Amino acid sequence: MIQLYDLTLDELTALVTGWGQPAYRARQIWQWLYVQKVADIQDMRNLPADLRARLAQETRLSALEVARELYSADGQTVKWLFRLPDGQLIESVLMGYADGRRTACISTQAGCAMGCVFCATGQMGFARHLSSGEIVEQAVFLARWLEGRGERLSNVVLMGMGEPLHNYEQVLTAIQRLNAPEGLGIGQRHITLSTVGLVPQIRRFADENLQVKLAISLHAATDEERSALLPVNRRWPLRELLDACRYYIDKTGRRVTFEWALIAGQNDVPEQAHALGSLLQGLLCHVNLIPLNPTGGYAGQPSDPDRVAAFQAILATYGVRNTVRVRRGIDINAGCGQLKAEVIRSRDVR
Ligand code: SAH
Ligand code: SF4
Repeated sequence: MIQLYDLTLDELTALVTGWGQPAYRARQIWQWLYVQKVADIQDMRNLPADLRARLAQETRLSALEVARELYSADGQTVKWLFRLPDGQLIESVLMGYADGRRTACISTQAGCAMGCVFCATGQMGFARHLSSGEIVEQAVFLARWLEGRGERLSNVVLMGMGEPLHNYEQVLTAIQRLNAPEGLGIGQRHITLSTVGLVPQIRRFADENLQVKLAISLHAATDEERSALLPVNRRWPLRELLDACRYYIDKTGRRVTFEWALIAGQNDVPEQAHALGSLLQGLLCHVNLIPLNPTGGYAGQPSDPDRVAAFQAILATYGVRNTVRVRRGIDINAGCGQLKAEVIRSRDVR
């Protein structure tokens, strides 16, 4: 079955002209998909009935079926668990901020092959890559939901389930469609890709000449500690990762964000703070410190506030800019992969 959100405008044009329809019909459908964001083919009102019938018969508008919809008590975070046509479950999270930003955190794979020990998605293993349409449609769904409330989606972060650079082609196509003025129209600077550190793909991404923000999941500043948390570090150790980051900064002129989940007694110790300071000193970058979200498959706990403050104080002596991020939606398992993990454990998904 053809999934409409998988098609480029050219492919959609080829499809409808192949059915004997004029090419402008493709543009009309495109508008319904990305501007009006209708949830049903029958709502594409300016199309002739025979075209709507054929579309309904031979294509699928939506690949996302809502399995769960959860609202955080903070009133600003909503999480969806979606079931894909083959039964795979993926998650998307919408986060609202006081400054008016509305950020969609979307998934790029069902599961993940990278095996980071503290991550609920990593603990599930890899199921499959998502298609570009399955990636884009998550943002469309959240944008539609917001528009129903008179609000607008402003940012997209590829920080849900999966490793975006492991699914390079589909993710790049998705980014282009999220960004395109005749697509969702989200500015490149408002799109962030987060990677565990696939070095060749970071270099390739730098060469794409995009203005998309890059975030690197660092989490440790020595190879020994990082390899214990993120198995990928054994393949591409810190020196190679940092070289790739410098390459990205040189090519794009953009600063890189480093993500650091603070784990009590593990990577929140003074030695790690000093190692991080030396590693990043002088680099055009920012560090996001996020107290760990505990997960079922990992015994680690988030750092206490005084440990966080001590860590920040050490970083400051190296002039490394950093922010402590508030954890969002803990009550709705908004952390990466956590809702799906919880649903699988309790087997109560309807
Ligand atoms: N695969 C990509 C993007 C998805 S994960 C990556 O790893 O970067 C998004 C972010 O959530 C990453 O920085 C990841 O390290 C972090 N993360 C995963 N599990 C977490 C947890 N239990 N607590 C805090 N951060 C977590
Ligand atoms: Fe995959 Fe990212 Fe989770 Fe690591 S942190 S297992 S790369 S989703």
